[in-house]
Amino acid sequence: MSNKAQEAPSIVIKLGSSTLTSGGHPNRAVIAALCDELKQLRERGQYPIVVTSGAVQLGVPVRRTDCCVSATREGFAAVGQIRLMSAFADCLSSHSYSLAQILLKHEDFLCQHTRAQLIGTITSLSCSDAIVLINENDVTSGGRGFPSNDELSAALAALLNVSKLVIFTDRPGVYEADPRVHPQARLFETIGAWDEQLLAAASDIPTATGTGGMKSKILAAQIAAEHGAVTVITNYAPRKLQRIVDGERLGTWIMPETAVDRTPTIINA
Ligand code: GLU
Repeated sequence: MSNKAQEAPSIVIKLGSSTLTSGGHPNRAVIAALCDELKQLRERGQYPIVVTSGAVQLGVPVRRTDCCVSATREGFAAVGQIRLMSAFADCLSSHSYSLAQILLKHEDFLCQHTRAQLIGTITSLSCSDAIVLINENDVTSGGRGFPSNDELSAALAALLNVSKLVIFTDRPGVYEADPRVHPQARLFETIGAWDEQLLAAASDIPTATGTGGMKSKILAAQIAAEHGAVTVITNYAPRKLQRIVDGERLGTWIMPETAVDRTPTIINA
C-alpha cells in the first residue's frame, strides 16, 4: 500500500458546459472518453479531481408552467445535476469505480474548519474506489458564489496543493486576441501567469453555453500560479488528458514563474 502523500489528489481537471453538454443533453461521447482516461490515471497512481459544469445548462425545463416563473436558472441545476451525474455514473460503473459528488459554495473555502474537512474528505475518497466530481452548489449559491467554475477549480487546486490544473474549454488554447473577432490571432503555447500580454488577450465573452469566457480562465490560472501550479487551457479530445499529464505541450501552458522567462512563446494556431 502506498503512503498518504502519494495518494493525495494530484491534478484538478475542469470541464466547461460547452464540453460536457451538447444540444441540451450530457455529451456522452466526451464523458465516456474522459472516464476511460480517469480510470487510466488512477491505474497509474494519479488521483484526479474533476470539476464538472453543465448542471444549469441541463436543468433548463422543457415544459414551463406558471409556478416555474419565480425559479432561477440556477435552481433548475437540481435537475441538471442528476442528468449529468447519471451519465458519469453509467460510464464509471463499467470501470468498477464509484462516483462521489461534492457540491460546494464559495463560503466553504473561507472557513478553516470546512477547509480542513474538505481536504480530509477528498483525500479519503480519492484513496477509495471513488472518483471525485465537484461542482458549485448552484441551487444555494443562486448565482452569487464563484463567478464561474474556473475560479472554483483554481480554489480547489490551491486548497489541495496540486501541481497541475487543466481547464478544458471549447478552444484549443489562449490566443493573443479573441479569434472570433481576430481570426488571424495566434495561440500562446507557453506563457507566464502574470505576463501582461496574457491578460490583454483575454476575452470575457462567454461561449453559447459557457459562463466565464477566457478572462475567468486566465484569472483562475493566476490563482493556481500563486500556489505554484501550472494551468493548461485547451479543448477536450480523447487521450488528450493523458498526454498533458505526461508533459506534452498541448494547448496553452500558463506557468507560475515570476522573474525569469516572462517572454511568451507564440506559435501559429
Ligand atoms: N456550476 C455551473 C453548472 O454546473 C457552471 C458554472 C460555469 O459554467 O462555470 O452549470
